[in-house]
Amino acid sequence: MKKIIGNFKMNKTNSEIKEYIMNFVSKVDKSRAEIILCLPSTALSTAKYLLDGSGIAIGAENLCDEEGGKNTGEVSGEMLKDCGAEYVIIGHSERRVKYRENNRSINKKIKIALKNRIKVIFCIGESLAEKNLMKTAEVLKTQLEDALKGLYENELENIVIAYEPVWAIGTGKIPMNKDIEDAVKTIRKVIADDFSNKAAEKIEVVYGGSVDNKNCGSISKIKSINGLLVGGACLDPINFCQLIRDTKA
Ligand code: PEP
Repeated sequence: MKKIIGNFKMNKTNSEIKEYIMNFVSKVDKSRAEIILCLPSTALSTAKYLLDGSGIAIGAENLCDEEGGKNTGEVSGEMLKDCGAEYVIIGHSERRVKYRENNRSINKKIKIALKNRIKVIFCIGESLAEKNLMKTAEVLKTQLEDALKGLYENELENIVIAYEPVWAIGTGKIPMNKDIEDAVKTIRKVIADDFSNKAAEKIEVVYGGSVDNKNCGSISKIKSINGLLVGGACLDPINFCQLIRDTKA
């Protein structure tokens, strides 16, 4: 079954998410996909309460790259776990660009998430300039190798790699299916070279970037991907339910 991950980004108040979840749960066809809602930290406890026993998983969108107390304004892995987060998005391009996150801090965040038994949705992808310079494979390799440094092979079971070309996020532009396939091939080759062929086959890779109701059917036909990461198109519950229905299982 494919994973469909919703990334709410910095959208919706706690009360709006409460309303969203009640609407979504009553309409979604859960047999179509494994659903994960990645929500702002302020809504995690509410979601934990409302989604308990529903089979829909909760994810956070970020965590602190340190564990101790002296980090005013940050949220720790332990806090997220306690609020119900089973997943956390790490390395999203918005955080890499706007908050200057680098592969070193991303590596620390991945380790902290795993230590707290939170699965990681690890985002990688090339910028438009890098794509135009035909550097996609090189960029993906560096992002993967730097961020997965020091991990044991069995820890990859708790990591989902999200291939998100930066130029496709929120732009309405999507790569050709062939380009997504090539990127996924590169990702699996890096994992095979650095870990094992078995790890490369097993690791889950999802695609994200301007997935919507019109293109989800075609993108989800790509055999080598294990699901979709959806930003803007997840924000309306009815729309998202339809997208889940239209995604190839
Ligand atoms: C995202 O931000 O992870 C994302 C996939 O956004 P969008 O679907 O809006 O491009």
